[in-house]
Amino acid sequence: MLSVNKVFNKSFELFKDIKTSINLGDIKPLSFKAVDTYLTCPRKYNFSYLQTIVGEASDTKTSASQNSGMVLYKVVTNVLKESYKSGSLCSLENMLSVYDRLWVSAVFNNPADASACYEEGKNIISKFYEKNSSLKERVAELPSWKNKNVKVPALEVKANADIGGVKIIERIDRIMSLPDGSYEVIVYKLSSAWGLQSRAASLYTAAKKLFPSRKISVVFYLLRENMKLSVDLKKEAIRQFEENVKSVATGIARKEFAPVKGQWCSFCSFRASCSVWKGFIPDKTRMRLSFSKFNMYLTCPRQYRLVYVDKIRLKPHSFFSLGTSVHEAFEKFYTYDGIMTKPSLRALLSMLKESWKSEGYEEDGVSEREYYKRAVDMLTSYYKSFVAGVAYKKAYRIEEYFELQVGEKALFTGFIDRIDELDGGKYEIIDYKTEPTWPNERIMEDHKLQLAIYWLACKEGHITSTPPVKLSLFFLNFDKKITFDIIGNGSGAVSGIDISRIISENIKLVDETVEKIRASEILYKKGSSPDEVFMPRQNDYCHNCDFKMDCPLFII
Ligand code: SF4
Ligand code: SF4
Repeated sequence: MLSVNKVFNKSFELFKDIKTSINLGDIKPLSFKAVDTYLTCPRKYNFSYLQTIVGEASDTKTSASQNSGMVLYKVVTNVLKESYKSGSLCSLENMLSVYDRLWVSAVFNNPADASACYEEGKNIISKFYEKNSSLKERVAELPSWKNKNVKVPALEVKANADIGGVKIIERIDRIMSLPDGSYEVIVYKLSSAWGLQSRAASLYTAAKKLFPSRKISVVFYLLRENMKLSVDLKKEAIRQFEENVKSVATGIARKEFAPVKGQWCSFCSFRASCSVWKGFIPDKTRMRLSFSKFNMYLTCPRQYRLVYVDKIRLKPHSFFSLGTSVHEAFEKFYTYDGIMTKPSLRALLSMLKESWKSEGYEEDGVSEREYYKRAVDMLTSYYKSFVAGVAYKKAYRIEEYFELQVGEKALFTGFIDRIDELDGGKYEIIDYKTEPTWPNERIMEDHKLQLAIYWLACKEGHITSTPPVKLSLFFLNFDKKITFDIIGNGSGAVSGIDISRIISENIKLVDETVEKIRASEILYKKGSSPDEVFMPRQNDYCHNCDFKMDCPLFII
């Protein structure tokens, strides 16, 4: 059923937008970093680019190590710029003498760090020379900004482009003219690159403005790895980048600077000034643990080592994709802002379709179609049992990020699926489970611990104005909701989850686990046998483990 008020409000908003018609050209030119910062957290963009708040250094240890990386990066990239000034790479002797001239050891806290950093830089330059000295390519040329008739080498080029009336600025380290006449746009990075497609789209757009008729390719030069990473730039990435620029510029013009909490808050220099954390700055010596990270170590230390120490990405799997798709559909459903007073079952199923992830089915040898049908069945039953007969209400919070200090050594981080505001200003925490089997007693205890941590996070982090009164699990495959009351905290309940008991029973385990992980990591880095310090532990999930094929305990 349509609400007349909602229809009117929507039309009025649209009218207001047309009336005020934002002039995106008035926005300050946007760098890629500015766009990325806004997309991550608009409040951080506001702090970084529009306000005069000076970011607080996170802690001396981090800032010293960030500085050493930054010094190394700046010196090495400046050496490379100087080395290409004649059009092609100069000799190694010249490069190293420029390096010595530019090197600054004064910024380091101690001479040992300075010396290690200096040696690393020298090594990077020598290896770079070895790999690039014989290449048959030259630096492209551009008209000088001082005198258009004079050509200068395209080194450290500042390029501007225009996307839908929004000015963007890019900085390209080097543009090379390749033997086939095309141009290669190069950006140096100290180590492995992130957000490749998006940054490449930005660089490509800027370079095309400079050289409209040239074929352009984009390359990230990873200095530590001494390798070129050529980006296979997709049209979709360019389109997405343009969309992002326009939506960021619109948000800035409308002064939309809402904070968005996430893992990135740990590295945000404005955290102490940010309203969402209410002054909470976690102790940085604590180990960050998500619930799944903690559980993975307890289930199998070997698997933990491969994922969290060696950082081997887990392969896509049908069960991950199904879970993510269903969670995303619920996220859309419970943040619905359309004109219906209650989104229909059809709307929920079309949200599922939009959110569907296709990865992992082929790899697992299962039918994606069957899983999709299973997801449709789960959501249909859910809708009939828990939505159809009651009034629709948007969630109070969805995928709420939290950080919680547990015991002496751990900082638990994670996302709460959903928090509902109930009548009378009370709150309920909700977690969805999509597993195909009913949990045994041990797994149910894990679920209770997880809910207890969520409850504490809401209370300690002031996510809800009063601590939640209900903790609920939806077992979607069984069309079942289990709700626990809170024992203690003045609730008067005699059954449910006793938060103080469950936390105090587990604090020791959490602290001991952190200690064990840290000790194992030290031994592993010193060269001890990986499977001796992070021992494999056979468990119910071995058949789904990505590392089973070379695991000493796995039996086919
Ligand atoms: S602390 Fe987090 S939410 Fe606050 S401004 Fe920084 S990134 Fe945004
Ligand atoms: S197969 Fe089992 S024991 Fe081996 S690493 Fe994987 S989870 Fe651990």
